[in-house]
Amino acid sequence: MIQRAVALMLIQGLLLISCASIVHALESQKPSTQRLTTESNRPKISRSVSLMTTRVDFILFGTHPATANAAIDQAIAEFHRIEALMSEWQPGSEVSRINQQAGQHPVAISPELFRLLQAAQRVSILSHGAFDISFRSAGKLWDFRQATVPTQEHIQRATRHIDYQRLTLTPEQGHHAPTAFITHPKTSIGLGAIAKGYAIDRAAQIFRQAGFDAFAINAGGDLYVAGNAQDRLWNVGIQHPRAPERLLASLPSNNLAIATSGDYERFFIHDGQRFSHIINPHTGYPANGCQSVTIIATRAFWADALATAVFVLGPNEGMALVETLDGVEALVVDQSGAVTLSRGFEQSSGYQTTE
Ligand code: AMP
Ligand code: MG
Repeated sequence: MIQRAVALMLIQGLLLISCASIVHALESQKPSTQRLTTESNRPKISRSVSLMTTRVDFILFGTHPATANAAIDQAIAEFHRIEALMSEWQPGSEVSRINQQAGQHPVAISPELFRLLQAAQRVSILSHGAFDISFRSAGKLWDFRQATVPTQEHIQRATRHIDYQRLTLTPEQGHHAPTAFITHPKTSIGLGAIAKGYAIDRAAQIFRQAGFDAFAINAGGDLYVAGNAQDRLWNVGIQHPRAPERLLASLPSNNLAIATSGDYERFFIHDGQRFSHIINPHTGYPANGCQSVTIIATRAFWADALATAVFVLGPNEGMALVETLDGVEALVVDQSGAVTLSRGFEQSSGYQTTE
C-alpha cells in the first residue's frame, strides 16, 4: 500500500484556526497555475507539480506575476536537476555512479553532492548511525507493493552491509574534483531522506534571488515558508498521523523549514503489525518507535534528515538529540499516540496547541 498523507498544511493569514478553515484552504489550492488577489492586493501565484514522486506546491506573493512564474519554472527545473544528480534510481546520476563503483574506485563528484554527503555523514555521527544513507542494502528487501516480510536471514545478511563509515569522502584537491568511494561492493547509498529537503532549500534560494520575500514550498508535507503571506505570518498546522482532520499544533512560521517523517507515508500491515519505509540500520527492520516526527529548523535538508534520524531513534533518544541542537525543535508522536514537544517548541510564544 502506498499512501502519501500530507502531514503539514499551510494556512495563510490565520493565527487561530479551526479545522474547517484549513480544509477550505487546502481545497482552494487547485493543481494548476493560479493567480489570486489577496486582501493586501499582493497577487498570489501558485503552482502544484509532481516532482521527485511527490506533489510539490509553490506559492509566491509579489507584484510581478510574470517574474513569479519564471521563478517557479526555475525552481521546477532545479528539482529535476537535483533528482538527475542524486537519484539512486537513475543509472546516470552521480549517486548511482558511486553505487556502481562500490568496492572498486572512488568517483569524482560535484562539490554540491559532496557537501550533501558530508551533511548526511554528520547526521549519522550525531544519531549514532540511526540515520544512515547506506540503509539501502536492507531497505531494498522491503517491497511495499508486494507487502511481504523478508526472511530474517536475508535481513541479517543485508544489514551487515549497512555502515556509513564505508563511504569515504575526499575533498577537492587543487584541480581534482572531490570524490566519494564506497569501500565495500555490497554497500550502496540512497538519499531519500535528505535530497527532497535539499531541493526545497534550493528552490527557496531561487525565490529569494528572484527578489521574493514571501513564499512557501510544500513538498508532500516537507516545507519551507518565508515572509508574510497576507500581512501575517504563514501558519503551519501539524496534523495527527492517524487522524489527519485533527491538528496537533499550529505554528506561525517565518524563514523556517518544517519536515515530517511518518509511518503512514509508505507502509503495509502484516499479521497486525505495521511495516513502514524508514529502516532501523541496526536491525534492518522498519523503525517502530514513532508514528511521526516533525522537525523545525532553518534549513530543509537539515529538518528532513533529522526527522528521519529522530524517527529511528524513537521518542526518548530522539528528543534528547534534538535538545542538543541549536535552532532545532521537534514534535514527536510516539507509537502509543502520545505527543512530546522539545523545550523550545513548548516555550515559543507563538506555539498553539489545538488539542
Ligand atoms: P523521510 O520520509 O524523509 O523520513 O525519508 C524516508 C526515506 O529515506 C526512505 O524512503 C528511504 O529512501 C530512506 N531511508 C530509510 N531509512 C533510512 C535511514 N535509517 N537513514 C537514512 N535514510 C533512510
Ligand atoms: Mg527525512
